[in-house]
Amino acid sequence: MGLDVRTIMVMFAMLSFMFFCLFELAGLRVGRIRGVRQWAVANLCIGLGFSLAYFFGRTTPGHDWAVVFGVTLIATGACLQLTGIQAFKEQPTYWRLVVLFIGIIFCQSVWFNVIHPDFHVRASVNSFLFFFIYAACTRVLLVKTEASLRVSYWFTGASFAMLAVLLVARGVVIMRSPDESIGLHVNTAINTLPFIICCLLQFCIAFGLLLMLNHRLIADVYQVASRDALTGTLNRRRIEEDALRLRARCMRTGESLAIMMIDIDFFKSINDRYGHPAGDKVLCCLAEIAQKSIRPDDYFARYGGEEFCMLLTATTENEALELAERLRLAFAQFTLALGKERLNVTVSIGVADSRDIGLEFADLVKAADQALYRAKQNGRNQVVAYSSMRVDDTF
Ligand code: GH3
Ligand code: MG
Ligand code: MG
Repeated sequence: MGLDVRTIMVMFAMLSFMFFCLFELAGLRVGRIRGVRQWAVANLCIGLGFSLAYFFGRTTPGHDWAVVFGVTLIATGACLQLTGIQAFKEQPTYWRLVVLFIGIIFCQSVWFNVIHPDFHVRASVNSFLFFFIYAACTRVLLVKTEASLRVSYWFTGASFAMLAVLLVARGVVIMRSPDESIGLHVNTAINTLPFIICCLLQFCIAFGLLLMLNHRLIADVYQVASRDALTGTLNRRRIEEDALRLRARCMRTGESLAIMMIDIDFFKSINDRYGHPAGDKVLCCLAEIAQKSIRPDDYFARYGGEEFCMLLTATTENEALELAERLRLAFAQFTLALGKERLNVTVSIGVADSRDIGLEFADLVKAADQALYRAKQNGRNQVVAYSSMRVDDTF
């Protein structure tokens, strides 16, 4: 192997400094996403650690201590990669365990570098200890993954897993190798190869972490773009998108799709009498009550102003009618306290299903809107089914 171990170390250190800058810059525009600064500092520690242990440590007299502090810095960097991932996933960090781990690395480095110098034992024990931290990173990344970030979690997790396996292999090989083939000054394949692969894997990890960040930002933007800012429900754009998917699903399975249009009665007069903030509260309460009454498969959205839309999968008009009636009653029984006053609000609901209207969302909305209009005409605070309207009209 024509590569010099120290050259690889310097390259590794440079790469880590570059990643430090990259994560620092990425961290400037991440909003409430946590963990990015920890990845930046992790790379700084790793870069400094390699510089200290393998670059300065070789050229200055007290290099034993340089190696000790270098390895401890690299361990700190690895731990910060782990804690950064935990923070990114909003998981708790057990800082005592982290400090204990760094303490163990420090003590064993002092023992096998300064007190009883033994490169064989130190390098193998270090490899095994680093295996644990990278295995922990793999576990955190691969367990409980959000669907929108799965690809980036798997990519980064696989990179950490390979690093963990590489370190175990390195530890075993070093233990079994003859003295003259190992050591930081020996340019044998046992020394250089793991560092080259390690360097490439750290590159993949940094790329994976940035990919995670990118996917999280996209998911957050999509979340903001598909939710109503006031009530937190889906918005009209999102339910129109979902309706397209549901249409395809119902065409495949032959299930019927029911729709409900819900409109608050005399909402304008609530605003006029109690003010806009009170009107907003009413909207939020309606949204909360409705969200609680739907199944995980159903879709509830603010369609516009004080009008809400509900799409119910594998549901007939009659079944939707029952749910609409329960919802109407739940809302009529709800009282909103506004200072000393008690406010009761009612809703009117129009219901339709896809069996004779078809699966086009616009047609379903139109039918449910007509039923809603009839409910308003009939005196409000009631539910009207589109099919019953057609029966009425024929008489
Ligand atoms: P109806 O019983 O016929 O439905 O009468 P309405 O007063 O509820 O209906 P109308 O369409 O006349 O009034 C709707 C009102 O909803 C007017 C608008 O100011 C109010 N509104 C729309 N969006 C919001 C909002 O985000 N917050 C509040 N507070 N009011 C809103
Ligand atoms: Mg209204
Ligand atoms: Mg309205």
